[in-house]
Amino acid sequence: MSKQRVYLSVDMEGITGVVSSEDVAPGKMNYERFRHQMTKDVNSVITGLVEAGAEEVVVNDSHGNMQNIVIEELHPMAQLISGVNKPLYMMEGIDDSFRCAMFVGYHSMATGKGVLSHTMSGVTRVKLNGKPTTEGEINAMIAGHFGVPVTMVSGDQYTVSELRESLGDIEGVVVKYAIERASARCLHPSVTTKLLTQASKKAWTLAESKKPYEPARPIEFELEFNHPGMAYRAGYLPFVEPVDARTVRVTAGDAITAWRMFWSTLLLGRSSLE
Ligand SMILES: [Zn+2]
Repeated sequence: MSKQRVYLSVDMEGITGVVSSEDVAPGKMNYERFRHQMTKDVNSVITGLVEAGAEEVVVNDSHGNMQNIVIEELHPMAQLISGVNKPLYMMEGIDDSFRCAMFVGYHSMATGKGVLSHTMSGVTRVKLNGKPTTEGEINAMIAGHFGVPVTMVSGDQYTVSELRESLGDIEGVVVKYAIERASARCLHPSVTTKLLTQASKKAWTLAESKKPYEPARPIEFELEFNHPGMAYRAGYLPFVEPVDARTVRVTAGDAITAWRMFWSTLLLGRSSLE
């Protein structure tokens, strides 16, 4: 089967120009501006993919309520996965029919130094096989389960370096240089659009040689929750092991089971009262 389809998972914190939580929260002053910019960053990636030979692009809106991308402004080549209740969450819609996956607008890990750094919400740190992990690494593991390599990421400089540490030499587009967690020196949108288009073309070619990401098995996730009540409640699940008052661990033999354990543990923990 010739694979001319590409999968894009799109978060918002690493979009061109975004520096603060107000930029990515519906109702706040700059949110409307940046949902248009989010759509533009995606279109810049798709432009490169079309030039490279892609025939279909599936775009998964992966931030907050997952209804940020403005569909009427999206490149007509794209199909948009929108809405938040999705079992594979930021990777919903991935399967073995894709040539590669790319992450747009991603951010650095919970313990990282980048703009709006976090690893999912409700937790102060997540470890994968004993090492602090990123949303990008977790999502690359899900893509890897389906034999799909991740070949590109965009965000700040830490986002790119952290994901390269897990996945090796993938295409990385630095659209801003983080100063602190809510400040950055941002490249102009007319510049980042070119960088994103150039990188996605190269990332299409890289898919020929890049191996899907597979962490060592068994796969172990450790979740350090914001407060002990969340860890206690997550422990209602029979497969969850306590580590300390705020921290729990889950272990699985394959990536999808590990993801489902991780995600259901996090969701249940987040349902705890403060
Ligand atoms: Zn986000």
